[in-house]
Amino acid sequence: MEKFDVIVVGAGLAGLGAAYTLAGQGLEVLVLERGDYPGAKNVTGGRIYVNPVRDLFPDLWPEAPLERFIVHEGVTLMAKERSVAIDYAGDELRQEPHQSYSILRARFDRWFAEQVEAKGAMILPKIRVENVIKENGKVVGVLAGGDELHADVVIACDGVLSLLGEQAGLHPVAMPHNYALGIKEVIALDAEKINDRFHLQGSEGAARLFIGEVTKGMFGGGFLYTNKESVSLGIVIGIEDMMEKGGNLEAPVLMESFKARPEIACLIRGGATVEYAAHLIPEGGFKALHPLHGDGILIAGDAAGFTLNMGFTVRGMEYALASGYYAAKTVLKAKEMGSFDAVTLSEYGCLLQESFVLKDFQNFQATPSFMNNPRFFSHYNELNGNIFRDIYSVPAGPKDRLYPTVRKYLGLGEMWGMFKDFREVTKI
Ligand SMILES: Cc1cc2nc3c(=O)[nH]c(=O)nc-3n(C[C@H](O)[C@H](O)[C@H](O)COP(=O)(O)OP(=O)(O)OC[C@H]3O[C@@H](n4cnc5c(N)ncnc54)[C@H](O)[C@@H]3O)c2cc1C
Repeated sequence: MEKFDVIVVGAGLAGLGAAYTLAGQGLEVLVLERGDYPGAKNVTGGRIYVNPVRDLFPDLWPEAPLERFIVHEGVTLMAKERSVAIDYAGDELRQEPHQSYSILRARFDRWFAEQVEAKGAMILPKIRVENVIKENGKVVGVLAGGDELHADVVIACDGVLSLLGEQAGLHPVAMPHNYALGIKEVIALDAEKINDRFHLQGSEGAARLFIGEVTKGMFGGGFLYTNKESVSLGIVIGIEDMMEKGGNLEAPVLMESFKARPEIACLIRGGATVEYAAHLIPEGGFKALHPLHGDGILIAGDAAGFTLNMGFTVRGMEYALASGYYAAKTVLKAKEMGSFDAVTLSEYGCLLQESFVLKDFQNFQATPSFMNNPRFFSHYNELNGNIFRDIYSVPAGPKDRLYPTVRKYLGLGEMWGMFKDFREVTKI
C-alpha cells in the first residue's frame, strides 16, 4: 500500500504553501487537486499583500508572476444616483519592495505548482478526494478515485466548506451569516487603456472598493483591481442578507447593474469578459474559525476559515499561504518527535498564535459584527451623496452658506445614530 509522509488535499495557496515548505525539507509529499490544473478552480478578488509572507517564502517573490503593484487605493460610496469617491496615492506605495500586487490565480497557482514540483513534491490534478480514512479515530490517509492513499499526516487545504474538515469532524455546521458569495469577471483591456483610465504608468496598478448601492443595501460591496492587460471586477454579498433581504434579486443581476453604473462602465468600455467565476468566502472572522487540527490532520487556508474582511481590505491569500507554511512547520516538528497525534499537532495553533495570522484575527474580531450594520450599505452612502450634491450645486438664485447646507442633514436623530455607530468604530 502506497504511503507518503504527507498528503495535501487542494492545490490552492494553502496547499501549495504547505507542500513547498515540506518538499523543500525532503519529505515525500503528495498533493491532490480536483481541478484540471492548480489554479483552475481558484477564485480571488485579486490583490495580495506580500509583506506578511515575504520572509516565509523568500525565494518565491522575486520571480513570481504577479500582475501590477498597487499605487492607488480607492473607496467609492455609491448612492442610488450619485457617488462619493476617495482616492489615496502615496510615494511609499511606489517604493520597492512593493506592499501589494494584483494577481491572477490561474497564472500564479500554476507557476507556484511548478516550483513545488521542482522541490520534489508530486502534484496530481483531476483527483477529487472523497473521504478521509480513519483508524481508531486517527486520520491515516484519504480515499480518492476508489484508491486508498496513506500518510503520516493529512493537511486539508480544500477551501471553504471543506469536505475533509467535515469528514474529520472538525468543520462545524455552516451558518449563512459566516459566508459571502463572490462573483468575479476578468475583463481584458489593453495595458495602455488601463494606464490612461486609471492614471497609471508602467506596472503600476489601482485597487478600488465600492460600497452601498452596488449590493442594493445588503452586506457586501464591489471591487476592481487592474492587472497587466485586464481588470478584475466583482461583487461580494453576504449570504444571510441575500436570503433575508434579497427577495427575487439574483447575484448575477447585481453584477450586471454594477457594471452598468456610469462610474464602472467608463472604466471597462471596450473590454471583453474572458473569465467568469462565483465562489463562497468565509467572512465570519475570529469567532467563526474552525478547529485547526485533529489526530493525524491539520486544516489550513479557507478550509479553516482564514479570510478576513477588515472593511478597507479583504484578505485571505496571505493567511492561506502562512497557515500552509505553519502547518508544514508543525509536521516537520512532529516528524522529529515521531508522533502525529492531536497533542503533537496542537503545535500548529501555537505557531499561528505567535504569527500575524491569529493576531490579525484577534485584533479584528469585532469587525464582522461592526460590518453587519445596514446603515453602512445604504443610509450613509445616500447621506454623503446628498450632502455633496448640495455642496456642488449652483442654483439660479443665491447659494446657501456651506454650514447650513450640510447641517440640514445632521438633525438630532442623525447625530445620535452617528454617535452610536462611532462608538462601534472604536472597537475595530
Ligand atoms: C470573490 C472573492 C474575492 C476575494 N478577494 C480577495 C483579495 O482580494 N485578497 C485576498 O487576499 N483574498 C481574497 N479572497 C479570499 C482568497 O481568495 C482565499 O482566502 C484564498 O484563495 C484561499 O486559498 P485556499 O488555498 O485556502 O483555498 P482555495 O484557493 O479555494 O483552494 C482550495 C483548493 O482545493 C481544491 N479542492 C477542494 N475540494 C477538493 C477535494 N475534495 N479534492 C481535491 N481537491 C479539492 C480546489 O479545487 C482548490 O484548488 C477572495 C475570495 C473571493 C471568492
